[in-house]
Amino acid sequence: MSMPSSLRSIINTELIRTEAYIDGTWCQAIDGAVFDVRDPATCNRLTQVPNMGEKDCLRAIDAADAAQKPWSALTAKERSVFLRRWHDLILSNQSDLAALIVAEQGKPLAEALGEVAYAASFVEWFAEEARRAYGDVIPQTRNGQRSLVIKQPIGVVAAITPWNFPIAMITRKVAPALAAGCTVVAKPAEDTPLSALALAALAEAAGIPAGVFNVVTAARGALIGKTMCESPVVRKLSFTGSTAVGKLLAEQCARTVKRVSLELGGNAPFLVFDDADLDAAVAGAMASKYRNAGQTCICANRILVQDSIKDAFAEKLADAVSHLRQGSGFEDGINQGPLINSAAYDKVVRLVDDALAKGATVRTQAPRAAETGVFFPPLLLDNATPDMDMYAQEIFGPVAALYTFKDEAEAIAMANATSAGLAAYVYARDIGRAWRVAEALEYGMVGINDIAISATEVPFGGVKESGVGREGAKYGLEEFMEIKYMCMGGIS
Ligand code: ADP
Repeated sequence: MSMPSSLRSIINTELIRTEAYIDGTWCQAIDGAVFDVRDPATCNRLTQVPNMGEKDCLRAIDAADAAQKPWSALTAKERSVFLRRWHDLILSNQSDLAALIVAEQGKPLAEALGEVAYAASFVEWFAEEARRAYGDVIPQTRNGQRSLVIKQPIGVVAAITPWNFPIAMITRKVAPALAAGCTVVAKPAEDTPLSALALAALAEAAGIPAGVFNVVTAARGALIGKTMCESPVVRKLSFTGSTAVGKLLAEQCARTVKRVSLELGGNAPFLVFDDADLDAAVAGAMASKYRNAGQTCICANRILVQDSIKDAFAEKLADAVSHLRQGSGFEDGINQGPLINSAAYDKVVRLVDDALAKGATVRTQAPRAAETGVFFPPLLLDNATPDMDMYAQEIFGPVAALYTFKDEAEAIAMANATSAGLAAYVYARDIGRAWRVAEALEYGMVGINDIAISATEVPFGGVKESGVGREGAKYGLEEFMEIKYMCMGGIS
């Protein structure tokens, strides 16, 4: 197969892998099946990768099982050194990894470079945290006894990841798992397997032992997911993706009582009060809503503006939206890439049609990209109301909708009127108001006068139907460790 043009800029061609990585070897599916990986900016085929099934997945689980005890027997410092080497290789291959992301996912190159740095930061952080998995000594409860708590790795971990951050969502799970002494079988999203395979190539180059990190590629996500959930060997599932799939996986994991971490869909409210710095709020709304063409789970999904400032805010926002530039992520000056696939496009069209039919109006729309790919031109809707489907569902596209509220109480009620609870944003300069509202929001993460909330040092995760558990931060390591209490008697 000749190299497609979007992969030609990649200097380290070792990163372009078309086989899965199981037990330290690159392999095809047992039945030889493959599936296409496409460039969403052109709809052209990039390459093909193995379409693995149950037997391949079980082989990867066995490999992870065999590798787990020796891996966890290393000292934390030794595991940390492997992770540190992996981190350094990710960063020294930053531009090639970014090019792979652009090719299969579509985001602008600047965002892809940022994603690689963000992805590497998890590996660095957990290389450091590996050495701080402290236990406790508990004051004695009976004469002649001593009580202590140690942290031990859970065991084999299954990781199922989405396509919107194809590298960062893998390192955010795999780095803490490996740091804790767990081994991993990862199943990347079918739209973006190449980024995951490149990470595996770098893990191999870093000397991470065979079986410790395995990547199973498959177009049959449900089959692999079921195999992982049903395996008694897998002790933990870490999933990032849609709420519907997350619920199904939680149900499937119940049968073997696995630990689960779920990062599911959001429905972020973006609240702008009448005392807000309007320019800062517009800049925040643009960055939050239109990053990755609106395809992040913490994207502003409902922009709620106090009625007295709605027009002034809408005017400034419309001006900014009209200047967005859509096209191939490889082109200079582009800040809006394509959507991931035609199903995503159809969903955005359906939500916009529903809103327009129920009275929303088009405030502005940026020009469509010239390319033939899956492009929905960035849109700003005004006069949106809570009866519209996009009030309750994630848009996951470059469409902003403006709603209004009267006062603080109504803003909080509207913001919380959803089963999701991932991220929320508040723009207000009155410190008392900002604090009151932030406390009242039923969300796992709240940005106050800022939208750049993600970092490796802080906890990422949601409440309500947005998920269970936290990633990153000191909490991220705990997700992959069990607490063991040991009671030692016969001392006196
Ligand atoms: P999105 O809507 O963002 O594509 P999904 O939840 O469909 O979110 O996909 C996230 C990940 O879950 C992907 O790796 C996908 O292959 C996987 N997946 C999809 N359906 C299932 C399923 N039924 N069981 C397990 N994994 C699944």
